[in-house]
Amino acid sequence: MPNRSSRRAFLASGLALPVAASAAPAQSMTFGVLGKTGLKVSRLGIGGNVASDPSVLLLAYDLGVNLFDTARSYNSGNSERVLGSLFKDKRKNVLFQTKTTARTKDEALRDLETSLRDLATDYIDIWHLHGRNTPAEVNDGLFEAQRLARQQGKIRFAGVSMHFTMKDMIPYLVKLGQTDVILTSYNFSMPPEMEMEKHIAAARAAGLGIVAMKTMAGGFARIQRGDRLYTDNPQALTARLKQPGAMAAALKWALRNKSVDTAIVAVTDREQLEENVAATPAPLTDADLGLLAAQLDFIRPLYCRMCGECTGRCPQGLPVGDMLRILSYADGYGSLPLARERFRELPERVRQVRCADCASCAVACPHGVRVASRLRKAQQLLG
Ligand code: SF4
Ligand code: SF4
Repeated sequence: MPNRSSRRAFLASGLALPVAASAAPAQSMTFGVLGKTGLKVSRLGIGGNVASDPSVLLLAYDLGVNLFDTARSYNSGNSERVLGSLFKDKRKNVLFQTKTTARTKDEALRDLETSLRDLATDYIDIWHLHGRNTPAEVNDGLFEAQRLARQQGKIRFAGVSMHFTMKDMIPYLVKLGQTDVILTSYNFSMPPEMEMEKHIAAARAAGLGIVAMKTMAGGFARIQRGDRLYTDNPQALTARLKQPGAMAAALKWALRNKSVDTAIVAVTDREQLEENVAATPAPLTDADLGLLAAQLDFIRPLYCRMCGECTGRCPQGLPVGDMLRILSYADGYGSLPLARERFRELPERVRQVRCADCASCAVACPHGVRVASRLRKAQQLLG
């Protein structure tokens, strides 16, 4: 099958957009308005999936970040508790977005009470239904829970987050008209046929606030150099990954889209935070596009573009995209505990499958991801 995520296609899609001749030094945090919510939001937010050092979170606040992301399920609830205790005295200056994986109204409302308690607040700014990749994963009961919570003043705005199949989910949510904010995967690795720009622009035009996530496409440039999770030849890997500026370029790529109100990025240390803050107001340059093209060459066989085209293709019932995303927490973002935690949440029957038992793999990724070998690695590392 032809590889549709070619370097040439990537450069062509990037170069079709306005690109500045050179990067300008960052001056300060920039802000946008989050769709019809009217919330003034820093264009860089902090993602909560990877645990941040509290001092890094406070520094982010000092540097102008006002959006802090978390979820009921992150770090067994500890992510919410850390934010709650850190920002208790600054609550009116920050925006909290959290999420629930609940499948029913009652379950969702119970989750909300726990989130309110752990975030030490009496309201959530944006409350997302977490990881809803198909219309079947949202329902009237969940929307009713969001409406009720809003009437009671427990949330300000209702959101839905999604990792895959945005071409189905975004238009569906726009049509339903029950959602104020979407939190969507969006990065430079996504091929033009996913039509992310079109769907994001349509949602923004309909008044939805747009929060981007997964902007680093796996964060592969930020792994520990020489990390043996990847290879037996860490020196060769180090040479390939030495691309200073690639992650900043990835953030600039996402924020060059003016329909994107903000991007949440997980940071584990001060260096990453400062690099992201500096990148936020900076224009995307030709040099950035070159870095991203090289990055795409490296991640092509590794990183799932989240198109959802392989959904239901594995005869053993593996949720391929989800498993690849979980693996990227370990070998892209460098957080093995997080990947193990997410892997443990998969159903038992999924965790028991071994790709090594298949003579050949029935899942052919049109974007060049080596599905079977990646999933074997996930099963070895995380199972
Ligand atoms: S593995 Fe390939 S086909 Fe499946 S969701 Fe990821 S990019 Fe799409
Ligand atoms: S090798 Fe392919 S077909 Fe077999 S279990 Fe893994 S993903 Fe499914």
